[in-house]
Amino acid sequence: MSQKDNTRLVLFDIDGTLLNTGGAGRRAMKETLREIYGTCGSAEKFPFGGKTDSQIVSELMLQEGLLEEVIQDNLNLFFTNYAQRLRQQIDRPQLKLYPGVKQLLSTLTETKGVFLGLLTGNIREGAWIKLKAVELDRYFRVGAYGDDSPDRNELASIAVKRASKQFKKEFQGRNVVIIGDTPHDITCAASIRARTIAVATGWTPLAQLRKYKPDFLFSNFSDYQEVVHAIVT
Ligand SMILES: [Mg+2]
Repeated sequence: MSQKDNTRLVLFDIDGTLLNTGGAGRRAMKETLREIYGTCGSAEKFPFGGKTDSQIVSELMLQEGLLEEVIQDNLNLFFTNYAQRLRQQIDRPQLKLYPGVKQLLSTLTETKGVFLGLLTGNIREGAWIKLKAVELDRYFRVGAYGDDSPDRNELASIAVKRASKQFKKEFQGRNVVIIGDTPHDITCAASIRARTIAVATGWTPLAQLRKYKPDFLFSNFSDYQEVVHAIVT
């Protein structure tokens, strides 16, 4: 096998995959929606999983009858204020890191040929606030975020392009591994023919994830060696 074949770019989703903010993200989102658009609509119950932050804001506010133009014109201000509120809302005792995550990330970091990145619907600042709160920021140097595009599928190619530049390596096809907790993560991976690993620690049950045919499916990452194996095999 050539050296190139052993190279892996592993792109991680954040919420539901690495951690759970214990509602901090949703609270920050609701407060900022009220502040900027005058209503938070159905944000209490709306499924955030697998969606980009800008997609969440657009869908919620369109439901409330706001014009797309009004939503877009206020989006930058929205995200500035959202990041501030998220920082205030992040509460360490409520934050939950899923089992095996830290061991998985540190093992991958030490595995030759494996490079880590982020593929998340969180805006860049939001992603780093969450990762720093559980000391996972040190594992990541590159990523694609919810403020790069509202379309998660587009984030996949942005992440791969940035990682290629950062690590000076070509990553393509099944050498790219996309890890997430929702059907959106799986279809996003399929859009660039990447290898998919789905994990049921988020809000989508294992049986439902299975219907989308990820290459590998785990109920959680407690058996992290098996996940490493799925990535490097
Ligand atoms: Mg997720």
